[in-house]
Amino acid sequence: MEKIKMTTPLVEMDGDEMTRILWKMIKDELLLPYIDLKTEYYDLGLVKRNETNDQVTIDSANATKKYGVAVKCATITPNAARVEECNLKEMWKSPNGTIRAMLDGTVFRAPIIVKGIEPCVKNWEKPITLARHAYGDVYKNTEMKIDGPGKAELVFTDENGVETRATIQEFKGPGIIQGIHNIDKSIESFARACFNYALDTKQELWFATKDTISKKYDHNFKDIFAEIFEKEYKEKFDAAGITYFYTLIDDAVARVMKSKGGFIWACKNYDGDVMSDMVSSAFGSLAMMTSVLVSPDGIYEYEAAHGTVQRHYYKHLKGEETSTNSVATIFAWTGALRKRGELDGIKELCDFADKLEKATIKTIESGKMTKDLALITSLKDVTVLNSRDFITEIKNTLDTL
Ligand code: NAP
Ligand code: MG
Repeated sequence: MEKIKMTTPLVEMDGDEMTRILWKMIKDELLLPYIDLKTEYYDLGLVKRNETNDQVTIDSANATKKYGVAVKCATITPNAARVEECNLKEMWKSPNGTIRAMLDGTVFRAPIIVKGIEPCVKNWEKPITLARHAYGDVYKNTEMKIDGPGKAELVFTDENGVETRATIQEFKGPGIIQGIHNIDKSIESFARACFNYALDTKQELWFATKDTISKKYDHNFKDIFAEIFEKEYKEKFDAAGITYFYTLIDDAVARVMKSKGGFIWACKNYDGDVMSDMVSSAFGSLAMMTSVLVSPDGIYEYEAAHGTVQRHYYKHLKGEETSTNSVATIFAWTGALRKRGELDGIKELCDFADKLEKATIKTIESGKMTKDLALITSLKDVTVLNSRDFITEIKNTLDTL
């Protein structure tokens, strides 16, 4: 069989620990035999980041800006323990954070649905994609504990030194205060990324805030979304037969629970933090969650939502058998290959991505899966496979399609 040709390289960001092991297996077994794989390779493994003073992360983000599509393996975000363990020069920042900031992107997370791994919420038939605004609000706050009586005020001083003041509270006793902010430009980017992704995936877009209570702050989010939608997207949405729907956050939560799924739920930073963990755990497994970073100008970076699966890696290093789920990492590759195929007009590449996803799902639905899924499946007669054998089974299924 002739291998599928590519024209533009994918930006390939390798990573750490168990996912780095899976990365190579996926390439060797599921991609290289079928595709004349063209990638520009960046090693974002911690060793290389430390060696290059994290320049490699910046280079990989710049390459993504240049080519438009990247696929990323999970990476270690160093903490104090890792600085010690890996003898790091510095506690390097999270690569995901660096890349997100450079691309000004929004992260969309979606579950992979298979028969036999049913969501806790019975009526969720289709995936719910969660988009979280990744800037500001409580994540960039300033807080104070107040020891006793006094007046707390909001003060804004403009460039000319003119002050605007508002009283927060006349304290009679001890209490707490918090200052938060957001920036119109960031909200606009978030809105455009959401509208573009909805068009791209032909799904409805939902957005919710608490604008009835927060009449200026949350209302500003609502207004920016509404204005950009009317000006730039309404006609495109009509043409695509999809809708943009705004409601209050508590109403959204109630509707989400009763929905069939199949839409994108855009959330403010805190709502997204909370709701993404709720939605992903209700869909079954972190190992079945994909994640894509989309910039407002249409640059895509695909990855799995889970981390480097450190615990499994340590078993692997001791020579013990692992049963680590590679599905989300495989779907990161298929997402990136399909997008590359779409942009370059290579139908075979898109078809291959579809086929590999189908083979992966079919393998699980036939009862062959990794341990994490075996523990939660409703299927009977399940075969639990180790990390490598699971990938080999997917290849066997792929070769029958
Ligand atoms: P994790 O790697 O997601 O793993 C947490 C636990 O979830 C695992 O121990 C495992 O449970 C289960 N799990 C996750 N993915 C799985 C898979 N593919 N197959 C089977 N089980 C899976 O999170 P972590 O242990 O908290 O973090 C490890 C490292 O990853 C950290 O250094 C962190 O900084 C990094 N991280 C990176 C990213 C990213 O690059 N996007 C995201 C999150 C975390 P059992 O052990 O019970 O089997
Ligand atoms: Mg969280």
